[in-house]
Amino acid sequence: MTSLWDTPAFDNHEAVHFVTDEATGLRAIIALHSTHLGPAAGGTRFWHYAEDEAALTDALRLSRGMSYKNAMAGLPLGGGKTVILANEARTKTPEMLAAFGRAVDRLGGNYVTAEDVGMSVQDMIAISRETDFVAGLPVDEAGEVGGDPGPHTALGVFLGLKAAVKRKLGKDNLDGVHIAIQGAGSVASHLARHCAEEGAKLSIADINQARVEELAAQTGATIVDPAEILTVEADVLSPCALGAILNEASIAALKVPVIAGAANNQLATPEDGQRLEARDILYAPDYVINAGGIINVSTEYLDDGGPELVQQRIAAIPGRLDQIWDESQSSGRDPAAVADAMAQRLIGRA
Ligand code: NAD
Repeated sequence: MTSLWDTPAFDNHEAVHFVTDEATGLRAIIALHSTHLGPAAGGTRFWHYAEDEAALTDALRLSRGMSYKNAMAGLPLGGGKTVILANEARTKTPEMLAAFGRAVDRLGGNYVTAEDVGMSVQDMIAISRETDFVAGLPVDEAGEVGGDPGPHTALGVFLGLKAAVKRKLGKDNLDGVHIAIQGAGSVASHLARHCAEEGAKLSIADINQARVEELAAQTGATIVDPAEILTVEADVLSPCALGAILNEASIAALKVPVIAGAANNQLATPEDGQRLEARDILYAPDYVINAGGIINVSTEYLDDGGPELVQQRIAAIPGRLDQIWDESQSSGRDPAAVADAMAQRLIGRA
C-alpha cells in the first residue's frame, strides 16, 4: 500500500488535522498545505462523502488549490481547507458549528476559514462566536468589505475574460462578442450583466429553469439546453457551474477559441490543459481568474484596506493572466501548467 506521504494529493502538506467531537458528532479534516506566505486561508466544505478517503483527498486537493490561488492573487495568505464529513441526513447543529469553531481556534490563527459548498454566512456567524479566525461574515459584522464573494469573483472573471478576448480576438471591448455561459448562479449572473452592459451577445444554460429564465430576461441572453452549452459555437465559453467539465471528449467538441470562467477545477486532468493548447484554445487558469472572492475575503480578514484595495487587487488579475499567457507562448507549456509552476515558486516549492 502507498503511504499517505507518497500520494500525489498529499503534496507535502504542512499539517493535516483530523477533528472529532463526540458530543456533537463533528468529524472534520483541516488540511494546511502551506503557511509560507501567511496564515493558511480557505473555506469549509460541508459534504456527505460515501468514503472517508474521498473526504481526505478532497481536503488535500482543495487545500493545495488555495495555496496556489492565494499566492497568484498576491495575497499575504497561505492555503488550507476544511471538509466537515456530514452524515447521510446532513445534520448540522449550532453545537456542531461551535465545536468546529473551537477546533479552528485551537490552531491559533494558522488557519482561517470562510464559506464553501454547504456552508452559509449564518454558519460563519455561528463559528465566529468561538474564534476570530473566520471571514465571510456579513457586511454589517465584517466592516465595509465583508459579504457575498460572488460579485467580486464575477468582476475578476469579467476583467480576465476581456483580457483573453483582447489577446485572442484582438478586440478591446465585448461589443458583439458571443459568450456562452454555463450556469446562471451567483457568479454567472453578475458576470452576464457586466458582459451584457458592454454589448456582448449571450447564450446561457442552467439546470435551474427559473434562474436561467430570470437571467435571460435581465440580459437579453438566449437560453440553451444545459446538455448543449459546451458545444455552442461562440467566441468565449465561460464555465461558471461545475468542475472537471473539460476532458478529452468535451475538449474535442468545443467550438470556441477562448475559455474564461469562474468554476473551480475546470480541467479534469492536467493533460486537458495540453489538449486545449493543442486545439489552439486560449485558457484562463481557473484559480487565477476566479480569485476576486478570496481577495475580498482576505481584505475583510486581514483588515489591511478598504474597497479600493479590493478593486486594485482584482484589477491585477488580467495582468497576471497576460504574464501566464506570455510565458506559455515562450515556453510552449500550456497556461495551466505555467500557472502551477509560478504558484509553486511563490510558495517556495519550485
Ligand atoms: P451557484 O451555486 O450560485 O451557481 C451554480 C449554478 O450552476 C447553479 O445555478 C446550478 O443550478 C448550475 N448548474 C449546476 N449544474 C449545472 C449544469 N450541469 N449545467 C448548467 N448549470 C448547472 O455557484 P457560484 O457561487 O455562482 O459558483 C459557480 C462556480 O464558480 C462554482 O464552480 C464555484 O466553485 C466557482 N467559484 C465561485 C466563487 C464565488 O465567489 N461564489 C469563487 C470562486 C469560484
